[in-house]
Amino acid sequence: FDLRKQDLKDMSELGQGNGGSVKKVQHTPTGTIMAKKIVLIDAKPSVRKQILRELQIMHDCKSKYIISFWGAFLADPNICICMEFMDKGSLDGIYKKIGPIDIDVVGHVALAVLEGLTYLYDVHRIIHRDIKPSNILCNSRGEIKICDFGVSGELINSIADTFVGTSTYMSPERIQGAQYTVKSDVWSLGISLIELALGRFPFSESSDSDSDLSDFEGTLSPARPGSLALGLPPPKPRIKTQKKDKRKSKGVSLQGGGMTMSILELLQHIVNEPAPRLAPEGRFPREAEDFVDSCLLKDPDVRKTPKDLLVNFTFLVRTRFALTCLLPESQKHVWVEQARVSNVDLETWASTF
Ligand code: ADP
Ligand code: MG
Repeated sequence: FDLRKQDLKDMSELGQGNGGSVKKVQHTPTGTIMAKKIVLIDAKPSVRKQILRELQIMHDCKSKYIISFWGAFLADPNICICMEFMDKGSLDGIYKKIGPIDIDVVGHVALAVLEGLTYLYDVHRIIHRDIKPSNILCNSRGEIKICDFGVSGELINSIADTFVGTSTYMSPERIQGAQYTVKSDVWSLGISLIELALGRFPFSESSDSDSDLSDFEGTLSPARPGSLALGLPPPKPRIKTQKKDKRKSKGVSLQGGGMTMSILELLQHIVNEPAPRLAPEGRFPREAEDFVDSCLLKDPDVRKTPKDLLVNFTFLVRTRFALTCLLPESQKHVWVEQARVSNVDLETWASTF
């Protein structure tokens, strides 16, 4: 059906992001509940219309791992994008509410995101460009889907002009100005998985949410390919990453406790230091550690694509089935396989919060 502004009744606010806000709304003629994203676009009318045209591709994005699209319209000076409402919200909100997410559930997240990314790229040649926990949504049926992918080149450009913060899921090659590829999304997935499993952003040592760098808002040059000039961002504001108590975490820490870090320092850290890992060692299954390590290979040439990672999953599942009776008990826990065939019931999981 044709979406008209006047047919949507605001119900509640779901969240605020960089470029705008998301509201839960009801489409009154049909009673359908939707999520309406309002994006403030500072662009000429012709560009707005172009964006609207490009967004129509979302009508063809049909996958159980992708948020479905109801339609978009102009509401000057905004663009409104109406999408499927996910009643359990995004994974960042979920872990902030219930704490670190069980590693078996994180395995399902990995699988869903890889399936979604593979679909977007194989079928539509779309690279997501913004994988992070707040763009991975969950509903009470236990479904996990990704949203906010880069369908519209014009929209990416327009938002880039006002874009601040949340660049911290950015891969080392992107920070250095290389072309965006599907492998950059794999890096962002790796960072996101650690964040979910630890219940905190991996580059911040503290578990306090108020020092969470992922929420950092600073001034960064536009996130267009090649245009992110290191050296431009000002050194302020600085973010505390100090732990309130002096206990040293064995996990990924940034230059030890008591340090503060600007966005520039964070970007330099991502480029220059070893990638974060699922830590401390032994807390998570080996297979989960290995998988995250493979997402976070700093050299994009050796990092796998989402599709390669999925094929590996499938291969592991097959060989595991063949070998299961031969393997010792200690090796029977294969994380990725568990995610495929496991009895982890996401619907039951989702009913716990
Ligand atoms: P960000 O993704 O950077 O947090 P957004 O503006 O994209 O900013 O989204 C703001 C918040 O709205 C998200 O964090 C998420 O919790 C919520 N949200 C977005 N889309 C949906 C949706 N389709 N269903 C339910 N909640 C949503
Ligand atoms: Mg979002």
